[in-house]
Amino acid sequence: MIVRNIEGASAFPFAETKNFAPRKLTVKMPPLDQSTIERRATIAEDLRRIVGKESVLDSESERRPYESDGLAAYRALPLLVVLPQTTAQIASILGYCHTNRIKVVPRGSGTSLSGGALPLEDAILLGTARMSRILEVDAHNRIARVQPGVPNIKVTEAVKSLGLCYMPDPSSQAIATVGGNVAENSGGVHCLKYGVTSNHVCGLEAVLITGEIIRIGGAFMGAADGEFDLASVLIGSEGLLAVVTEISVRLTPEPPVARVISLGFRSVEDASRCVGGLIASGIVPAGLEFMDRRVIDAVASMLGELHPPEVQAILLCELDGIEIEVDTLIERVGEMTKQFSPAEVRISKSDAERELLWRGRKVAFGAMGKIARDVYVTDGTIPRAQLPEILRRVDSLSKNYGLEYANCFHAGDGNLHPMVLFDSAKPGDLEKAEAFGADILRACVDLGGVLSGEHGVGIEKRDLMTYQFRAIDLSQQQYLKCAFDPQEMLNPGKVFPTHCGCVRTGRLPTGNGDPRFAGVPRF
Ligand SMILES: Cc1cc2nc3c(=O)[nH]c(=O)nc-3n(C[C@H](O)[C@H](O)[C@H](O)COP(=O)(O)OP(=O)(O)OC[C@H]3O[C@@H](n4cnc5c(N)ncnc54)[C@H](O)[C@@H]3O)c2cc1C
Repeated sequence: MIVRNIEGASAFPFAETKNFAPRKLTVKMPPLDQSTIERRATIAEDLRRIVGKESVLDSESERRPYESDGLAAYRALPLLVVLPQTTAQIASILGYCHTNRIKVVPRGSGTSLSGGALPLEDAILLGTARMSRILEVDAHNRIARVQPGVPNIKVTEAVKSLGLCYMPDPSSQAIATVGGNVAENSGGVHCLKYGVTSNHVCGLEAVLITGEIIRIGGAFMGAADGEFDLASVLIGSEGLLAVVTEISVRLTPEPPVARVISLGFRSVEDASRCVGGLIASGIVPAGLEFMDRRVIDAVASMLGELHPPEVQAILLCELDGIEIEVDTLIERVGEMTKQFSPAEVRISKSDAERELLWRGRKVAFGAMGKIARDVYVTDGTIPRAQLPEILRRVDSLSKNYGLEYANCFHAGDGNLHPMVLFDSAKPGDLEKAEAFGADILRACVDLGGVLSGEHGVGIEKRDLMTYQFRAIDLSQQQYLKCAFDPQEMLNPGKVFPTHCGCVRTGRLPTGNGDPRFAGVPRF
């Protein structure tokens, strides 16, 4: 485990958009509001009146487990942890916080790898863990209505007997919540063929920072004609715009047959060229995952040796559909990939064999703990044709920084997760890992890709946003923040490297009790 204290700077220190090109990830947060910290006991009492005594965690030992998320390098003790059970309670909490100018950080299960759920010492941490009910399953319309704290896997478990499933499947799905998935627009192994979270959400209920409840879309709607597609605005907004309190998700019939072909290559280059070749051939696998030799070794230390030593990289290619279609696709993949001379080809003939082939991939992230003291998982996306080039660049950066890395990622989507291996006990290693990770993300942008594939921006990529976006691109996004939360009370200090536009320029109302848009002519 690694610990880095958050710098509570005396002035809001984020650089202005124009000249900002930091060399490494720095974690400077908005200045702490001492008056809020001094009112902690009163705030706790007031919140207890809303949610009940047991739902406000106040003591240090109760708050400590919430001090970080999946980006464990950064920690801060939340002011208080509040665990509401209903939308009405969330509305009252946010209304109270808005009136009393208290910041709020929403949290699902805290598996974010970009620091999105990192607490602030002057903000309450609003957890959805107790809102974990599946409210309705409508098999006829293939919709489920769920609370935000439902772990992703529970949705599929609830509808499996109906032959249905919830397709988005982040590798963290046993723990990560649907609310967190919505906030991060999460992906997963099967998102190559079926799409990410935004493709499977048709309605949302959310609470604004003012405590007002909004409903968007619904069981039968995506973005209907004549309606702004606000669901798409909220999905992926990382807790900066509103707290999601209910989600209507699309259910998908489970494919009747799924088979995996595991291809072992003698070089990373061959495996990465094969990805581009496969996709270009028109075949759309249900999943196409890549693991390099370091990951294979880590997995072997848990499960035993699964592949011969000459295999330097594995591609796991899943194909699904009706039987005859899957058989044909498996044959085509086998034929097509011969040109890359795989050293090992294994094809599952039963569900049990399929599970076996996937097992290594499923334990891969956990297995890294066997070979490294600390692991920093990065997440950038590149056009698939650039896969061989980005892997070459990661390798050369690794030599420059003197740090090892391992690769295990959603190859079919071009979504990389190079894992930087380091030892936080060694002075300077964490800083090197941060700089290495930032250079990988810059390389993704240089090759025509983007900073994030699925883990979001959070604090991890916040200061790199100006590397991908121009000032105008960023400020248009920030005006949306202004429209929802002009005083920056929801999840402040995340995603954007500067204050949002309305605070900077005073061009939009601040919501300080002023008549909204006074002086703006009405239609
Ligand atoms: C081992 C491992 C594997 C992973 N694999 C994947 C993967 O394959 N694909 C992938 O996309 N991600 C993956 N992740 C990242 C992570 O699991 C996802 O981002 C997930 O969606 C986070 O869900 P959570 O409930 O833990 O949310 P949290 O981490 O608690 O929060 C994430 C963000 O969502 C906000 N938020 C949470 N709930 C709400 C709400 N109700 N309303 C508004 N905002 C909210 C938070 O403020 C924060 O910004 C992985 C993480 C780990 C540790």
